[in-house]
Amino acid sequence: MTDLRPFIAGLPKAELHVHHVGSASPRIVAELAARHPDSLVPTDPEALADYFTFTDFAHFIDVYLSVVDLVRTPEDVRLLTYEVARDMARQNIRYAELTITPYSSTRRGIDEKAFMEAIEDARTAAESDLGVILRWCFDIPGEAGLEAAEETARLAVDLRPEGLVSFGLGGPEVGVPRPQFKPYFDRAIAAGLHSVPHAGETTGPQTIWDALTELRAERVGHGTSAPRDPALLAHLAEHRIALEVCPTSNIATRAVADIDRHPIREMVAAGVLVTVNSDDPPMFGTDLNTEYEVAARLLELDERGVAALARNAVEASFLDPAGKSRIAAEIDAYTDRWLAS
Ligand SMILES: [Zn+2]
Repeated sequence: MTDLRPFIAGLPKAELHVHHVGSASPRIVAELAARHPDSLVPTDPEALADYFTFTDFAHFIDVYLSVVDLVRTPEDVRLLTYEVARDMARQNIRYAELTITPYSSTRRGIDEKAFMEAIEDARTAAESDLGVILRWCFDIPGEAGLEAAEETARLAVDLRPEGLVSFGLGGPEVGVPRPQFKPYFDRAIAAGLHSVPHAGETTGPQTIWDALTELRAERVGHGTSAPRDPALLAHLAEHRIALEVCPTSNIATRAVADIDRHPIREMVAAGVLVTVNSDDPPMFGTDLNTEYEVAARLLELDERGVAALARNAVEASFLDPAGKSRIAAEIDAYTDRWLAS
């Protein structure tokens, strides 16, 4: 089998499911930790690499929260956002919808207007300096309940930064039923935002149906359990409702027991618009290029197949039509050049 890694590394890509704090690489964490010497997070790269080696999922949550704790000022927010874009540029990611949980920051005392200015400043700088187009998805941290939902909807609708395109729901699914968030999604949708909740990652297909019928999901985060319901798969395929698949994350969180039995095959076989994403890449020891390699192996793809996967993400994105055509054309031109040489 050909080694697809060099092809994937240079392929222009779009990423639709990746979290803001969850994208803080050891390099970025070291910079943030150096700004806040009172934190317990190590600042030297070697100690950080150990710190980022997770023993179990509870350890992952601890590390995640300690990184959340390092984002204390608008300047931290700006640095994190811009440096995440730099890591994306290195992977030839041209466009990303970054999931941001503003509630975690505003609740910790960061001024809400300064927060919006910080992400917007990073967004415009990332586009002009690095050629990475960023858009935002503001998500409700499900575990924080309806108060967090109210606050997230208010921030999204009232302060709406220019780059905001969608409204999401993350955190645990067990014990956090999707329908209770309907009023907040209704408000966000009425304000023109797209609906992209996480659903069916750690629970069954009913949660995905709830996301579709109650929250009017236009894409579904994970949707790992969808193949357990053929009628659901058919519905997703018919309505071109994309699934945001994150293979390595699914193994790390044990949503899927064995990578070789990942349900991505059934999703593709049923004609669902499947996109490949990295979720919390450094925390899961991965990046988008690696996720494409995993998907290529599971789906037995060649270069054209991988390029088609990259185009799926462009199609399912909330980028304007001209932007979509431009990135799709870049993908095709790159692939043609690669195969001709
Ligand atoms: Zn996620």
